[in-house]
This record gives sequence, structure tokens and C-alpha cells, in this order.
Amino acid sequence: MRHITNDNSCARCSHVGESRIHALCDCTFSKAMWAITLRLVAVESAKYRSKSHTQKSTPIVGKGLSKVGS
Ligand SMILES: [Zn+2]
Repeated sequence: MRHITNDNSCARCSHVGESRIHALCDCTFSKAMWAITLRLVAVESAKYRSKSHTQKSTPIVGKGLSKVGS
């Protein structure tokens, strides 16, 4: 059986006046979930970025990198 409450308080953090905005943003539970999600996304995007970077990177040796006017 699901928790069905008659009052308007949040079932997760007992914040009074639950709304969709609270459920998505303001709830401490949601904030924790967002923090975890954003961290995972950051890790994944960093992985992807480093992978694509290594795939894209072409070795530029002795081409424009040598000191000029030696
Ligand atoms: Zn809440």
C-alpha cells in the first residue's frame, strides 16, 4: 500500500506545502538526487571528453612548435 497522506506535506522531507517544484527542486531528497546525478553526468562527460580528445588528437611533432629564431 502506498503512502497516501491527506495533508500537503512532503512525504520525503515532511516539508509543508508539497508542490511539483518542491518535489523536483526544493526537496532535500531531490537536492541530494540532483547532486548525485550531476556528479555522475560530470564524470561521464569527462570520460567522453577525454576519450574523444585522445581519438581526435593528432600528433603534431616539429610543426610550428619549434622555437622561432633560435
Ligand atoms: Zn520534500
